[in-house]
Amino acid sequence: MPALNPHLASMPSGYLFREISARINDYEKKHPGRRVISLGIGDVTRPLPAVITEALAKAALEMSTPEGFRGYGPEQGYDFLLRAICKNLYEPRGVTLGTDEVFISDGAKTDTAALQELLSAEARIAVTDPVYPVYVDTNAMAGRAGKFRDGVWSDIEYLPCLKENGFVPPLPSHDVDAVYLCFPNNPTGVALPLKDLQHYVDWARENGALIFFDAAYSAFVSSADVPRSIYECEGARECAIECGSFSKLAGFTGLRCGYTVVPRTLYGGTLQKMWRRRLAAKSNGVSYPVQRAAEAVFTPEGSRAWRDNIDYYMNNARIIRNTLRGVGLTSYGGVDAPYVWVETPKGMSGWEFFSFLLERAQVAGTPGEGFGPSGSGYFRLTAFNTEENTQEALRRIREALG
Ligand SMILES: *Cc1c(COP(=O)(O)O)cnc(C)c1O
Repeated sequence: MPALNPHLASMPSGYLFREISARINDYEKKHPGRRVISLGIGDVTRPLPAVITEALAKAALEMSTPEGFRGYGPEQGYDFLLRAICKNLYEPRGVTLGTDEVFISDGAKTDTAALQELLSAEARIAVTDPVYPVYVDTNAMAGRAGKFRDGVWSDIEYLPCLKENGFVPPLPSHDVDAVYLCFPNNPTGVALPLKDLQHYVDWARENGALIFFDAAYSAFVSSADVPRSIYECEGARECAIECGSFSKLAGFTGLRCGYTVVPRTLYGGTLQKMWRRRLAAKSNGVSYPVQRAAEAVFTPEGSRAWRDNIDYYMNNARIIRNTLRGVGLTSYGGVDAPYVWVETPKGMSGWEFFSFLLERAQVAGTPGEGFGPSGSGYFRLTAFNTEENTQEALRRIREALG
């Protein structure tokens, strides 16, 4: 046997979504003719706006001409896209970024997974709980998480986000080097008002800690007091790295494009230099046609189209929230994010509520336990199905619970 990475070899299996689809398949096999509607989808479903796929096709055809052919592009991304991101996603929020501070990638999963490479092997991290599993898993694979027992890692600090604290993560109580924050949040669907995020930024600066900020859902923000970027907070350029994505913004989950902002003001440019060095060693960048497609997101036609899609999803979120309230269920989120976090009734666990909804309403969602110990007693519904299916699913839930 070669000497293998023991941390990777001993990873607990990520069984959640496999287990869910197995239970749905099992139910459908036993009850032929009953159609299960899934409100567990964590992926966009609306087709890409034509202006985006036209830009993609045009750039692809350009590559077949002597003048238009492109080989390796800049690792950091083409200047046209870097400029478009600074101008369209940051300037309107009062955030001035240089193109040297933005790094294009194939998505926020890749980048949030890579952030831990900036840290030493002994560094301590904190995560919100419940949490998007990527942050935890990648630190565990790097040997930074300790032992896995009863669903938690011994060396990671979990910051419980519960109804009792309004799903606002408490400040870490241990000496941590970095904390991962994702707001608007997956899975709770809750967003952080500016003052709460500012509190975190102040803490990070006072304690010499980094904030890794996942802004994948920033385009869903509608509340006036909720920032779309952590750089709307004072001093965030001194302590925060932000990952963004075209996935949920403009339907790029299948095309793949995201970016990370590493300010040059972060520790005298050290982190920016490290991120650039790391990227140059590991990546040859994102394909030219995909970067042209991403640029088209910011054309007037592109913007209108993705805003319409987001409105479509958020209308589904409204249907979900209103119906749940009507049957006496308490839910959170769904205002600035496409996720609704439901408190399970009668003290059921997330898995018990999953079975209840599957059996009684033929509706599937995601048990909160799948996102961490503090997800217990909660259930995630998503706004990513069609309006027709969402209406029908909620009609069934109303019937089952009414
Ligand atoms: C969907 C999602 C992303 C986006 O990942 P991509 O790799 O850009 O598709 C990032 N973070 C969270 C929390 C997500 O839910």
